[in-house]
Amino acid sequence: MRFYLIRNCTRFLSTGQHMPKVCIVGSGPAGFYAAQQLLKSSGDVKVDILEKLPVPFGLVRFGVAPDHPEVKNVINTFNKTANNPRVQFLGNVNVGTDVTIDQLRNFYHAILLTYGAQKDQLLNIPGENLSNVISGRRFVGWYNGVPTDKDLKINLDVEEVVVIGQGNVAIDITRILLTSIDKLKNTDITSYALERLSHSRVRKVSMVGRRGPLQAAFTIAELRELLKLETCKKLWRAPDFAGVRDIVPTLARPRKRLTELMLKSLEESASDSTHAKELNPIFLRSPVEFLGDDELRNVRFAVSRLRGDTIQNQVAEMTDEFEVIPCGLSLRSIGYKSAQIDSSIPFDERKGRVVNVGGKVEDSLYSAGWAATGPVGVILSTMTNAFQVGSLVCKELASPNENKAGSDGVREILNSKGIQIVSYGDWQKIDRVEQERGKQLGKTREKIVDVAEMLDVAAK
Ligand code: FAD
Ligand code: NAP
Repeated sequence: MRFYLIRNCTRFLSTGQHMPKVCIVGSGPAGFYAAQQLLKSSGDVKVDILEKLPVPFGLVRFGVAPDHPEVKNVINTFNKTANNPRVQFLGNVNVGTDVTIDQLRNFYHAILLTYGAQKDQLLNIPGENLSNVISGRRFVGWYNGVPTDKDLKINLDVEEVVVIGQGNVAIDITRILLTSIDKLKNTDITSYALERLSHSRVRKVSMVGRRGPLQAAFTIAELRELLKLETCKKLWRAPDFAGVRDIVPTLARPRKRLTELMLKSLEESASDSTHAKELNPIFLRSPVEFLGDDELRNVRFAVSRLRGDTIQNQVAEMTDEFEVIPCGLSLRSIGYKSAQIDSSIPFDERKGRVVNVGGKVEDSLYSAGWAATGPVGVILSTMTNAFQVGSLVCKELASPNENKAGSDGVREILNSKGIQIVSYGDWQKIDRVEQERGKQLGKTREKIVDVAEMLDVAAK
């Protein structure tokens, strides 16, 4: 097989110069920012971005909340990169399945893995498979139009919801459940989700963390937005904050401001009794079991206490005291996880990320973004990481003394398998159709959620 490929590569050899050819796997922020850096650092590098889906931008399209359109402005920068003549986008190419890393090694001088984190962490507790115990990642995918999540079975005909985890994804999920439909209806949220949310009976959302207020993973802007929800009263538990006020002066500024905001909201919540909906942040509760028969009825938590010296690194230790919180729906939002997309990629299953040192995996193989760092950080930190790794790739990419087939090699393999490649121009057709459909519905965009339909539109 290898002989066959090398023989075919030689067909693409030109007698002219040998341009360095880099393949980027994944078109989220890490992929696009790394490409931008490569173009900037080298005047002749050619960059191909291979993307599993027919549509680009990763979590900017499929993660960022629909009511945060300003975050998606980074797409303007990605468009500039994609329109550079030295860049090609090859969508609908599932690396590891449609084309292997070994094959890509034959076609490119360097490969940069920026394929993100597409699985989620599990709690591994009894009842996790009950219906209406749902992955927060899939719920996000459902309202944002991820093709594999569009048919998610979720019952919103319930009054009480328990969100497990207190990161910014948990905040997004909680906000979407408690926001009034009027605030969502003009966004790019999928119409089916909008329709279902408009009939939702959800009245109370408990957002439960295993540690205390001083370890909360959410950040201040996201909490402030949640606290501003007009139709919703906020009920904190005073005992969760025992001793916290005394520690505030010793905290570093971001944590101090976040804690002060929680304390202020705690004070105000005592007099907040006017609204129909309820947000209930709960600390120091570790999930131990989902209870129910056919339907979810409760989540059982162990009361936790904190152990450890430094506040930020204190861990939750379960006690033998328990609390049962009733709910008809529970969303597990305890973090994403990367996967090994190809057996030749050195992968740390425990940490859920590609094994790398500063972005270097092994000779000619690099990784950046969530695939490399694990599922932490915002677009800005992903950008910083991708710029660093992009520079490293350029630095180590000496003038190649061998020509490589680049995208011609990829195309030959995909053509032989009958796989349709979606170019950036094709994506722009999909983009136009989505925006046009959105306009007709008074929304910024109506996403196409079916891969076959995306490919149809791309082929027109
Ligand atoms: P991703 O964005 O996940 O991109 C990975 C890409 O690789 C995807 O397009 C995927 O389809 C592709 N891919 C996967 N497997 C393959 C394969 N086998 N072959 C080819 N391609 C493949 N940050 C903010 O700054 N503001 C926000 O408001 C914000 N909201 C968020 C909301 C949610 C729900 C989540 C989960 C994160 C949010 N973030 C936000 C964080 C931000 O999205 C991440 O920092 C960033 O997207 C990580 O970029 P990435 O390129 O590493 O991964
Ligand atoms: P996260 O910030 O790591 O939060 C994960 C949460 O799950 C934490 O509260 C964590 O508690 C909890 N958790 C983990 N394992 C648990 C377990 N076994 N039992 C109970 N709780 C558990 O992850 P995320 O919310 O998925 O966000 C990922 C990244 O995307 C973050 O960097 C986030 O800031 C970013 N993001 C940003 C935005 C935005 O800017 N608007 C929006 C969404 C996401 P412990 O702290 O105790 O581990």
